[in-house]
Amino acid sequence: MTTAHDYAHQNQERFQQQLIDLCRIPSVSTDPERKGETLQAAEWVAADMRKIGLNNVQIMPTPLHPVVYGEWLGAGPNAKTVLVYGHYDVQPAVTSDGWDQDPFEPTVKDGVLYCRGSSDDKGQMFAQLKAFEALLANGKPTVNVKFLIEGEEEIGSPNLGKFVAAHRELLMADVCVISDGSVIALDRPSIGYSTRGLMYLEMEVFGAKQDLHSGAFGGIVHNPAQALAEIIAQLHNPDGSVAVPGFYDHVVALSAAEREELAKSAWTDAEWKEATGVPAFWGEKEYLLHERIGARPTLEINGFVSGFYGAGSKTVLPGKALAKISCRLVANQNADQIFGLVRDHILRLAPPTVRVEVRQLASAGPALMDLNSPYMAAASRAYEKGWGQKPVYERGGGTLPILADFQRELNQIPIMLMGFGLQTDGAHGPNEHFVLEMFKRGIDTAICFFDEVGQIK
Ligand SMILES: [Zn+2]
Repeated sequence: MTTAHDYAHQNQERFQQQLIDLCRIPSVSTDPERKGETLQAAEWVAADMRKIGLNNVQIMPTPLHPVVYGEWLGAGPNAKTVLVYGHYDVQPAVTSDGWDQDPFEPTVKDGVLYCRGSSDDKGQMFAQLKAFEALLANGKPTVNVKFLIEGEEEIGSPNLGKFVAAHRELLMADVCVISDGSVIALDRPSIGYSTRGLMYLEMEVFGAKQDLHSGAFGGIVHNPAQALAEIIAQLHNPDGSVAVPGFYDHVVALSAAEREELAKSAWTDAEWKEATGVPAFWGEKEYLLHERIGARPTLEINGFVSGFYGAGSKTVLPGKALAKISCRLVANQNADQIFGLVRDHILRLAPPTVRVEVRQLASAGPALMDLNSPYMAAASRAYEKGWGQKPVYERGGGTLPILADFQRELNQIPIMLMGFGLQTDGAHGPNEHFVLEMFKRGIDTAICFFDEVGQIK
């Protein structure tokens, strides 16, 4: 295996130059004016796939930006197959957002590459591709590989679920790896093994047929803003848990071993205080703060709208009130089922003095990987050998809808979240950057992962 690593190290400068070329293409998927450049980035990735020796390379259309696909199945039908997911599109960026330079003019300073997309996700995705190039350049890899690089991640992957469902045979694999995230620190690698799902709704409370004079009608009409607040106040129990009946029925409990593992990378209460600035914490007391974020579902009020909120005073009795509410979900909750439970509970709480409507706005499933799978062990050894340190396992509080899509369509495929970036890379913000040492270690780690998976019987 040392030869693939040698090849990668000898070609590091060329790899960096290629990454710079890719970063220079402003593939901003949300911008209709950048549709041509977004396609250009897809073509660039496809051309490199062909050059390094992948087969069946295709630019596959979706209703908006295409998916780039390439495979190498030379290890044979009995070998394992790795599906690599990444994205070639980027967030918008203009210099006036606070960049020290043109966001699409890649600049290397002190071993750091500054450019929109350098970390999220061009640099990380490209590390996977270069790792496989190194393996192909040094004999026959022991794993098959399928690369699926999409162009709509930054707009919420609206077409990927349908794309995966329509190409199940093509994409079927033993394990999926995603390098589109972060490790804790350069010398503290970490592997993500769960993400939370999301259910989003809005509730609207209707009172009188229009806004009323509070002097003429106050005291006989149930104020919708008040009714809304009364309902919302009953959505949590005094202990911080969600009061919706059945809400926790399918929640997978944290094991003692997992709690021990998660404690290794947990922030202290002081660090959480520093990050939030709150005077005291709130929530389910029987769970530590990082456990509440990674392993417990929540119900949050995201916004209220009602009545008068301009300068000065207006004695209005509003005709309606609206609240936006979302739930972060954990395995094995189902977003649509949770919507039904929350809606029914809200309608039960609604007093007869008002009319309440509840509408679902979005849903995405949670994902939880088995920490004891051989692929997880392979990912851990890959960081240990390739990155140079043994990684810890982390549960994420956010939502990655594609994980649930992949698992649903691809036979519950295990997914390894092997980030090569840092939380401080400025993804989505100004001066996004990618530490080139992490690009190098990412390539070494990816080479090790392919090799480790190739050894799984
Ligand atoms: Zn990304």
